[in-house]
Amino acid sequence: MTPKVARFLAEQQPATPCLVLDVDRVERNFAALRAALPLAQIYYAVKANPAPPVLERLVRLGSRFDAASMEEITACLDAGARPESISYGNTIKKVSAIRRAHAAGVDMFAFDCTEELDKLARHAPGSRVYCRILVENAGADWPLSRKFGTTLEGARALMLRAGELGLDPYGLSFHVGSQQTSTASHAAAIGRVAMLFTDLREAGMNLRMVNLGGGFPVPYRDAVPDIDDFARAIMHAMTAHFGNALPDMLVEPGRFIVADAGVVSAEVVLVSRRDPAAPVRWVYLDIGRFGGLAETEGEAIRYRITTPHDGGASGPVAIAGPTCDGADILYERSNYRLPLALACGDRVEVLATGAYVTTYASQRFNGFFPLAEHYI
Ligand SMILES: *Cc1c(COP(=O)(O)O)cnc(C)c1O
Repeated sequence: MTPKVARFLAEQQPATPCLVLDVDRVERNFAALRAALPLAQIYYAVKANPAPPVLERLVRLGSRFDAASMEEITACLDAGARPESISYGNTIKKVSAIRRAHAAGVDMFAFDCTEELDKLARHAPGSRVYCRILVENAGADWPLSRKFGTTLEGARALMLRAGELGLDPYGLSFHVGSQQTSTASHAAAIGRVAMLFTDLREAGMNLRMVNLGGGFPVPYRDAVPDIDDFARAIMHAMTAHFGNALPDMLVEPGRFIVADAGVVSAEVVLVSRRDPAAPVRWVYLDIGRFGGLAETEGEAIRYRITTPHDGGASGPVAIAGPTCDGADILYERSNYRLPLALACGDRVEVLATGAYVTTYASQRFNGFFPLAEHYI
C-alpha cells in the first residue's frame, strides 16, 4: 500500500467496501515499463481499470490504449486519447461497434478468424489489422488461451487474405496469459511469431508489427520476477529472431500498470466457527466474488489481506463474501491464516486490487451497491 493510500484510509475512514487508488503509482509503473522496454509502444489494456483519472494520467504520459469495446474506446477518447492511439484489441466485435470505431478514427483492429476478418474488411475498410495466434499459457495464474487465437498455419492464410481484402496486414499478436510468472513464455511466443514473419516474407508479404500482449505479473501473496527480467527475456528473443530489423513492438499491460496502485478497504461482517470441532474459522467480508473480487475464481489470484491485528497469533481461515450465493467464497483451499483477534467490525485491506476489481463488481446482487472508488 502506498503512503498516500495509507494516509487517505487513516484520515478519511471511507465507507466500505471501497477501492482507493494512488494515481501516482500508476505513473510510476508506466515509467518503469517504459524504461524497461524503451523500444515498445505501450497500449494500456483498458479493461484492467477504465476509471477516468487513470486514463487521463496515462494520456498525459503518452500511453496508447488497448480497448475491447466501443464503450472503452469512448472512455479513452473522453480522457483525451487520439483515435490513432487506440487499438481495438478484442477479437470479438459487434458490427455496430466496428463501424462506430472506424468512424471515430480508430484504425487498428485484432482478429483471429476469417469471419471476423470479413467483418473488418466490410466495416473498417483499409484498416491495419493484426492476427492473434494461440500460444502456451503455462505459468499464468489467469490463462487467456482457449477462447482466443488461431494456429500459425491459420494466421498465415488469414494475413494473406487480409491483404486480398484491401486491409493493411500489419502484424501478429499473442497473449501469454495474465499474471504470467514465467519470464520464458514471451520468448517462446516470439519464436513462433518470427517463423511466420519469415514464412510470409517468402510469400511476398512483409509484416511490420509484433504485439506482445500483456501478462506482466505483480506480487500478490507470492513474489514474482521483476519487470526488468521480463524485458531482458523479451529483447533477447526479439534480437535473436529479428536481428537489427526489429518490427514495431507493442505491449498491452493491464495488471502491471494498475494493480499495486489500489487497495480495497473492507469490513469484517462476521467471524464464525460453524463447526465447533473444526479449527477453521469462516471470515465473511463486505466484499466478495460478486463485489469485484472475481479473480478469486478457482482461487487463481491470491490477494494479500492485512488486518489491525497483524503480528498477533493467527489461525486457519476460509474467507467469503457477504452474499447469499454459495459460490461467493474467496479462499477455502489456499491456506489463508488470519489473526485470532480478528472480529466483526474490523477494517481489513485487500492489497494490490487496482486491476480487475471495480469493473467486475455486480450491480446490486442481494442489494449490495458496487464498491465505491476513490482516485487520489
Ligand atoms: C486482458 C488483456 C491484456 C492485459 O493483460 P494483463 O495480464 O492484465 O497485462 C492485454 N491484451 C489483451 C488482448 C487482453 O485481453
